[in-house]
Amino acid sequence: QSFAKKTFKSVKGKAQKALHRSLDQHVKLAVTGLSGSGKTAFISALVKHLTSQANDNNLPFFDVMREHRHIATKIVPQEALNVPTFDYNRAISALLPSEGDPAWPASTERINTLRLAIKYQSNAGLRGHFSPQSTLYLDIIDYPGEWLLDLPMLAQSFEQWCEQQYPLLSQTPRDQSSAEFLQSIELLDLDAPVDENALADIARCYQTMLVGLKKDTKLAMLQPGRMLMPGDLQGAPLLLFFPISPEKISDDVVAGSNLAHLIKRFDAYVKEVVKPFYNEHFRHFDRQIVLVDVLSALNEGYETLAEQSRVINQLLSHFSYGDSGFFKRLFKPNIDKILFAANKSDHISAKHHKDLALLLDSLVKEQSNHLKFDGVKIETLAMSSIAATVSRQVVDKGQTLDCIYGKPLNEQQWLTYLPPQPPSRMLKKSEWPAHGFEFLSFAPMPSPDQQLKHIRLDHVMQYLLGDKLT
Ligand code: GDP
Repeated sequence: QSFAKKTFKSVKGKAQKALHRSLDQHVKLAVTGLSGSGKTAFISALVKHLTSQANDNNLPFFDVMREHRHIATKIVPQEALNVPTFDYNRAISALLPSEGDPAWPASTERINTLRLAIKYQSNAGLRGHFSPQSTLYLDIIDYPGEWLLDLPMLAQSFEQWCEQQYPLLSQTPRDQSSAEFLQSIELLDLDAPVDENALADIARCYQTMLVGLKKDTKLAMLQPGRMLMPGDLQGAPLLLFFPISPEKISDDVVAGSNLAHLIKRFDAYVKEVVKPFYNEHFRHFDRQIVLVDVLSALNEGYETLAEQSRVINQLLSHFSYGDSGFFKRLFKPNIDKILFAANKSDHISAKHHKDLALLLDSLVKEQSNHLKFDGVKIETLAMSSIAATVSRQVVDKGQTLDCIYGKPLNEQQWLTYLPPQPPSRMLKKSEWPAHGFEFLSFAPMPSPDQQLKHIRLDHVMQYLLGDKLT
């Protein structure tokens, strides 16, 4: 009998173990946004709040915390061995140094990843009964939004790409910096035998223009994305192409000509750079957060904000089932939830967070209302991964002003400041204020207790992970 009992016990134990294992879940959370949108800060904050600040005080809207079911989270070895690891320790020692002033961590310009094991108590039904604990393996994948913007190139020929990109060069604000490049392509004889040096020179001129536009205008639709952060590809022929007037592209391409080489390089870029990113990474993501620096776009002006909206909607159209068959097939994505987050909301007063959220919502909805989504949930909110300011009320001439207090970036003095109110919808060009908007940026706050503060990071976690931690 005792043998039978023992056997039963061990079978039960094994069954429990097997069940336990099958209950472990994996989620790939992709974090993207254009450079400077706050990916590095977001991932640092996410990991910090899950590992050493995991409690219901910090994360009241994250169910697993509020219900006290979170047991422990730790960083574990990642599965993808060919992707660099997100350097969490480096980021945290910049934000929370043991001595000296805190600083924002340097952003990375390539894909990187980190794996967390979140151990928690499941809360109901079968799980609760058999398995006291479950583990959610969370792969966080950080990749430049610039790469995402290249994805439409998968469906384009060189000619179609030129039809889209070339006309932009004579529109504001690109026309301010495109003259030299446009002149240099005027002089290029497309049918002449290839002159590799000439193509390389023009490509460099195009690259300088793109990098300048990125810096000066924060425009989003700058292609090819790798020209902005070439990394290992700097100087490789597949990056040495540029758009030309589509009218000059004849059907009979002369073999070995400048044009033939431009087409070849475009095709190679799509095949060897864009496609592998799609196949090896994008296709496998489960959840996607897109960080949008709406306030910087407002600082830049109407064109930049309008382009942000176009880019968001271009991205969304990949997930729409009403879209062309090509993308439907290609983008049979795993992604079932996308969150657009207007980041850095600590740069404005708390009472205007709502306006920022509404503005982002209007950017997203502007063109996407007619898109039909197939099982993909889309949400927008305003948040701040790391709050660098605190709210302060100031009474001035009998009026209470909702100010923020912090140390502006690259300044020595702390400041109590009344930020402008962001618009709560996309403005028409004619409605844009004459002096534009000016939101300040702030340095991270010193934290004697080694804790980071956030705004609505718990809402973000609940939306992206809550259902996986029940
Ligand atoms: P990445 O290029 O997308 O990785 O962007 P980073 O995370 O490096 O952020 C770029 C800059 O934005 C930082 O150096 C900060 O100045 C600012 N920033 C990022 N996240 C926040 C945030 O949550 N609050 C505030 N106030 N500033 C932020």
